[in-house]
Amino acid sequence: MLEPAPHTLLQGCGLPQAWRDQPAWRILDTDFHQGLRFLHTWHTWLADAQGPLRLHYVVFSPHAPRVDALLQTAATYPELQVLAQALADECLDLSPGFHRLNLSQGHVLLTLCVGDTQALLREQQFAADCVFLDLPEAAAESCRWTIKALTRCCHRGTRLATTSTSHDSQAPLAHPSRPLAVWLKQCGFETNTKEPSNQWSYNPSWTLKTTRNPYLARAAQAAHPSDCVVIGAGLAGASAAAALARRGWQVQVLDAAATPAAGASGLPVGLMVPHVSADDNPRSQLSRSGIRLTVQQAKNLLRAGRDWAMSGVLEHREIGISTLWHPVAGWIKPAKLVQAWLAQTGIHFVPHALVATVRREGDVWVLQNATGQMLAQARHVVFANGWGAQPLLDDLQKTRPELAQRFARLPTLHGIRGVLSWGRQQPEQAATLPAFPVNGLGSLICHIPIDDDIEESSADAQAWYAGATYATGQLIAASVPVHHQTNFDKLRTLLPTAAQTLSPAFATNRVETWQGIRCVTPDRLPVVGPLDDDVSPSLWISAGMGSRGLNFSVLCAELLAAQMGGEPWPLPVSLARHLDALRALGRPSMPSR
Ligand SMILES: Cc1cc2nc3c(=O)[nH]c(=O)nc-3n(C[C@H](O)[C@H](O)[C@H](O)COP(=O)(O)OP(=O)(O)OC[C@H]3O[C@@H](n4cnc5c(N)ncnc54)[C@H](O)[C@@H]3O)c2cc1C
Repeated sequence: MLEPAPHTLLQGCGLPQAWRDQPAWRILDTDFHQGLRFLHTWHTWLADAQGPLRLHYVVFSPHAPRVDALLQTAATYPELQVLAQALADECLDLSPGFHRLNLSQGHVLLTLCVGDTQALLREQQFAADCVFLDLPEAAAESCRWTIKALTRCCHRGTRLATTSTSHDSQAPLAHPSRPLAVWLKQCGFETNTKEPSNQWSYNPSWTLKTTRNPYLARAAQAAHPSDCVVIGAGLAGASAAAALARRGWQVQVLDAAATPAAGASGLPVGLMVPHVSADDNPRSQLSRSGIRLTVQQAKNLLRAGRDWAMSGVLEHREIGISTLWHPVAGWIKPAKLVQAWLAQTGIHFVPHALVATVRREGDVWVLQNATGQMLAQARHVVFANGWGAQPLLDDLQKTRPELAQRFARLPTLHGIRGVLSWGRQQPEQAATLPAFPVNGLGSLICHIPIDDDIEESSADAQAWYAGATYATGQLIAASVPVHHQTNFDKLRTLLPTAAQTLSPAFATNRVETWQGIRCVTPDRLPVVGPLDDDVSPSLWISAGMGSRGLNFSVLCAELLAAQMGGEPWPLPVSLARHLDALRALGRPSMPSR
């Protein structure tokens, strides 16, 4: 099917003039076709010096778009070819669901939603500034329900341009047929002309209800960037700070430690690997969405091969019986990612800042240390300090008892210690150690370059990492050697040959130790979102990353920034609900780790 001329839709919505001087512009397109409309819009945004800082483009496609078709369609437009290639490079694994693609250094955010249009509309949580609506004539009756569902994603003033899918490439933009025009009017859209028109705006004659969804009422207009203090400079805090800074926010990141990534995120190397379940449960879906976003960040910010690698990961699901190869998976040095995020424009890192109290003064929050010294103040605060958030929230309730009822719905955050065993890899060991990370009962990651800032070593010095322990039951009070022995016992089951190679190191206490504390929730999923209010929140949280901070932290940061800015969410609403910070009441129970 040939794609309707893209510029007519932009003109129909008054672009590019309409998006000028806006902090962000949010487009909803009901059909991806071969991507031409998106590419054309992206190109128009790039060429417009007065365009918004962020362009959100949410687009539906009944099937996963084909990369070859995308490149072929764009081939006749020389000005679009570089953009088409950049888009194609991000198009990994476009299975049904939402796929958030960060383009133009995160200033153009494409949310590609694969599936049934009406179902996808129900999963949106934003108000579009303009809509590109396809009206296939043959399916006119179903369009009626699509238009009705669409109004949930419109604010008063949302512009709408229609087209119809046509096999005639010469056909100008088709005007909506008469019944469709009637339905548009019935649903609250109006047009200025008496002639058939493709240009509409949402302006119903009735009062729009704001009570049913306070988030949508608040997000009617994209928010202007503001100022924010983030507590905690680990994966959660630094990724949240970077997501906000990319959107123009001024962010201070406070940490009790002298350097970033001093908590669990100081892990020397970690695995980024999807969770798999027979019923593809929310945890599995969230892990895939999260990994896509982490990979985009790693590609942009880190040195491939030294700081991270998309090496693939072999998972032993039942030891000796079944294995699963994860191609979109690999290892990352989390501290490198944290450092790169904190170096971004708009972020100021404050070390040695142990926050003891958070208090409201006028229209700002004031953060103080234990001696009452002010550390920072801002309109918004994000708690991203892992299990350290719990005492701060408990303390806050003393001065704001009205928050107690809301905070009671926050799943309890608690710490679980873990010990990782590691050692320098001898050249003669390389052949008997796996070429890629293996996980299952514990994990083994080999051939990892040792950082020059950790120790003076030759550029090709490498290390292996085995573990980690999960200190529940008897391990809670166990000494470090007991943890090493536990890691070695697991390794013997997971990879007997590698265990044999590494056994001398374990036997002679030549194993190095790294230990940290994971922040976990009872259902082993992070907590994200507003804490104090649904209508105009200013206290936020992103914590509880558990054993999978590399899978979840960027996803949580994107969701948080979307909620703070009134933007489209990177996830379907039904999936995001599983991360809701105040979910403890009445949510479905989830499987554990
Ligand atoms: C042994 C081990 C192995 C792991 N392996 C993996 C893996 O393979 N893959 C993976 O994805 N994840 C892994 N994880 C989990 C991962 O490390 C965490 O999920 C992630 O680092 C959590 O990031 P965070 O920012 O939430 O917490 P942290 O990195 O702990 O950051 C919290 C920060 O808050 C600061 N802070 C706390 N309270 C205050 C306060 N009151 N004032 C100021 N600052 C404060 C702390 O100093 C700290 O820097 C592992 C964890 C451990 C312990």
